Amino acid sequence: MSSRIQFVPILFILLLSCGKSSETETSETKNILVGNGWETADSPYMLKPGATIAVCDTGVKAGVADLVVKAVRIWLDAGGRDGRIQVFKGCSADRVVKLYRAPAGVSYYGQAHPLNGNVHRLDVPPQWAGHWTANHEVGHVFGFAHKFQNTISIMNSEQNGRFMNGGNLSAYDLSEVRRMLSIPHFAAVQAAWKAKGGAPVPTPNTGSSCLGANGVTLYPHSTVTTYQGNTYTCNDGKWDFSPGIGSAPKSCVGANGVTIYSHNTVTTYQGNTYTCNNGKWDFSPGT
Ligand SMILES: [Zn+2]
Repeated sequence: MSSRIQFVPILFILLLSCGKSSETETSETKNILVGNGWETADSPYMLKPGATIAVCDTGVKAGVADLVVKAVRIWLDAGGRDGRIQVFKGCSADRVVKLYRAPAGVSYYGQAHPLNGNVHRLDVPPQWAGHWTANHEVGHVFGFAHKFQNTISIMNSEQNGRFMNGGNLSAYDLSEVRRMLSIPHFAAVQAAWKAKGGAPVPTPNTGSSCLGANGVTLYPHSTVTTYQGNTYTCNDGKWDFSPGIGSAPKSCVGANGVTIYSHNTVTTYQGNTYTCNNGKWDFSPGT
């Protein structure tokens, strides 16, 4: 390739912690998704004792379906739904969380769609980042939006998940679950669970803080930080390590041998398109 070729970056795509379709439908005063197809009453919290939820893997990234099963269980438990709602891998149930492979080059870690029939669609791109993406996206499935004020929460995608919770819901998330379940939509199903001895909504763990790597900063229990695709969760005074799935995508070197372009950068030259795909340029001829 001639060194005279100049790549002109036309688009820098920021990696977001989830899909845009679920980020724009946040009401101003609530962290509960409503509008543009999102209905509070579509939440899996509407399912009665004895219901089933299947996580349908259509051939997405290895390991993601298992993480989504775990995430569904976490959100169910948070709402006092015990094992009488079964969650398993499969494609047939009262509700189906259907995983679709998203094409390389999309800008999100994961994308949740509003309920369609009995299917909650989740798009899984190559950069899906382990269990915190699963917990976050499944939070959308249950009807939760974002909170953008540095709240320690699975549903806070500000700063690319720095404050996202790894394995457990934070006090903030649990309070939002309680608030959702107090909405009149849920009165009948709450009564059904109570009549059958449903587990109470757990109280948040207020465990010990963790010391940061600088030896000074204290992080509260449930703080989650990410580094190079791995996740560290402050679990009652100790950091829990959780490896990410794969490593962070690599940058690409420009034709001048100097300029570094981020993964997903798209440049065009003479009508052709070059996409930085994990350290290598993907060529796509123009028409
Ligand atoms: Zn999100």
